[in-house]
Amino acid sequence: MPDGGERLMGREIKRVPLDFDAPIGEVWTGYVMPDDLRGEQCGTCDGGGYSQAAKHLHKMWYGNAPFRPEDNGSTPLTPETPAVRAFAERNVTRSPDYYGQGEHVIRREARRLADYWNSAWSHHVNEADVAALVEAGRLYDLTHTWTRENGWQPIDPPVMPTPEQVNQWNIASMGHDAINASVVVRARCERDGVDVLCSACGGEGIRWRNDQHKAAHEAWERTEPPSGDGWQLWETVSEGSPKSPVFATADELASWMSDPERGRDWVPGDVAAKFIADGWAPTLVGSSGDLMSGVEFVGTRGGDA
Ligand SMILES: [Zn+2]
Repeated sequence: MPDGGERLMGREIKRVPLDFDAPIGEVWTGYVMPDDLRGEQCGTCDGGGYSQAAKHLHKMWYGNAPFRPEDNGSTPLTPETPAVRAFAERNVTRSPDYYGQGEHVIRREARRLADYWNSAWSHHVNEADVAALVEAGRLYDLTHTWTRENGWQPIDPPVMPTPEQVNQWNIASMGHDAINASVVVRARCERDGVDVLCSACGGEGIRWRNDQHKAAHEAWERTEPPSGDGWQLWETVSEGSPKSPVFATADELASWMSDPERGRDWVPGDVAAKFIADGWAPTLVGSSGDLMSGVEFVGTRGGDA
């Protein structure tokens, strides 16, 4: 492939009517959902989809709303708690320049960690929280074993981790993620008999004017430009927009593409001609820097074009 093919990355040829006059350089309107079909972010939940109660519980989970371990039936961590002590020792050992050295430094770090972790529900799950996490399959580290041959397998007979085990596991491995937070919050809301989801938007985070509005939004699909006898170069880096005028023949389009006036987009005539002949955009450059033609590309994926 001669030099210049890489300039055809993100380009494709479309056959459009000769009088097709969509503005060059602007995204084809058929590719853009009309503003009217979009929903508005729910103002009640700020788009998060959770009820006020669930939002508050999430804040407690992360320590961003007042939380006390005792309120969840848990025991506050202390600098002497083994998992806290081990974590503090690791921090200090790893960064002596930052922390300094000695027993008092380790104790100070352990105190800091204990206070910090005591402020977050995520470090103080109780039995009901654990049950919800196990049911959701979120504690495989504690309920399953993993082998290369068989992957994850449940421990037999099944085990129910204690809250202490889970809380220590979380300290040791930063085990909880956002999914765990949502599982625990949801289960707590259900136990308390309060809504999990925002009642204004049903949890979608989006408000619709009415059912028809939502249905129209969901039914919307991209529409291709009309097809015809003309030849036009498009760019596909954005949603897709016309790049050249519409030409009556492939040769005219190739001439336009290889006109020095194209500047940075200029390609040699033979490259343009082959590109047009292949009929659609190459989207890959081979490891040797060669352009893979559309036909070759289709071949590599089994030809689903
Ligand atoms: Zn809402």
